[in-house]
Amino acid sequence: MKVVLQHLSKVFPSRNKKANADVVAVSDFNFEIPDGELVGLLGPSGCGKSTALNLICGLQTPTEGRIFFGDDDVTDLPPENRGVGFVFQNYALYPHLTVRQNILFPLQNLKGSDKLSKPDMLAKAREVAELVQIDELMDRKPSELSGGQQQRVAIARALVKMPRILLLDEPLSNLDARLRLQTREELRRIQRQTQITTVFVTHDQEEAMSISDIIVVMRNGVVEQIGKPQDVYDNPVNLFVAKFLGSPPVNIFTGRVTDGTLFIGDDAVLKINGVPNQDIYVGIRPEGFILDRDGPLRCNLNRVEVMGRDVSVISTHDASDNSTIRSIIDAESAADLELSNVRFAIKPNKALLFGKETEARIFFNV
Ligand code: ADP
Ligand code: MG
Repeated sequence: MKVVLQHLSKVFPSRNKKANADVVAVSDFNFEIPDGELVGLLGPSGCGKSTALNLICGLQTPTEGRIFFGDDDVTDLPPENRGVGFVFQNYALYPHLTVRQNILFPLQNLKGSDKLSKPDMLAKAREVAELVQIDELMDRKPSELSGGQQQRVAIARALVKMPRILLLDEPLSNLDARLRLQTREELRRIQRQTQITTVFVTHDQEEAMSISDIIVVMRNGVVEQIGKPQDVYDNPVNLFVAKFLGSPPVNIFTGRVTDGTLFIGDDAVLKINGVPNQDIYVGIRPEGFILDRDGPLRCNLNRVEVMGRDVSVISTHDASDNSTIRSIIDAESAADLELSNVRFAIKPNKALLFGKETEARIFFNV
């Protein structure tokens, strides 16, 4: 089922009537989520992710805008009539019920023609339990399960009514690192298998990048960029998006363009065309550096961290915004690094320019 968000906004009025401090939690969100895709809604804490999700599911009403599931305008429908499954960060399982009873719960509340017979309900519960691989645990109580298992129960409970849309708000945040990795792959598998259009909220860019078909990057209630993870990573529209995506993060330098040459400090690092003379920010991804004895970017070598196939070269430069520069180099070419100076050439497609004032992306030709 495709989901269409049209000019969706949510303003929380200020509690203090005198100070005009309304919070614009979501501002003019426009997006058509294609049927069957997994969308990662991504941004720092407080940027409006949960509010956007709550609007889609109907827990909150928009100040402006409309929401469509397929061709149905669901904006004025209460959550229980929207056919959505919702998974929260804290699982929110009923502690006194068994896994089976937790999963059955949404089915037991069905009314009228939707009502199912007991055997049908049990069959559905078993089916989703098998899907999320907790069918061995049906008689346990939530307190007898690990965090990862509890989250699977929550996902099963959200899926048992076969929702039109699945919404997950930071579902992996309470899990330890290893379980988080495992559960996110599970989630991806379940989503692929069920083909349910899914919106997944996280503040963790790596999590969003790794499992999403499409990511939506938000800041202060505003959607900054929507696209395939790799496209957004390769082509961020502004400095915020560039810095938010990528681990290790992009290296930021202050630089300038003078007569077709890009300077970082005094180093003339690239010939570029199509950019007027100006001061700019230069972002270089860690994989954008090439070790080169005669390279134009002259840095001071700090240390080399071995990562196996690659090494991480840590260095400094006067024009760097970050205290250190992190570049990822293949281990062989870094083997003879021992001097205090290290020089790099820059891969043009890994260099990102941003306006000094606007922080908007500036495109160039090489
Ligand atoms: P996120 O999920 O990205 O961390 P939220 O959607 O929870 O962000 O919040 C977005 C903004 O809206 C924040 O500034 C938050 O304080 C504010 N906010 C959220 N819910 C309410 C509410 N019920 N009343 C007032 N302000 C709220
Ligand atoms: Mg939130």
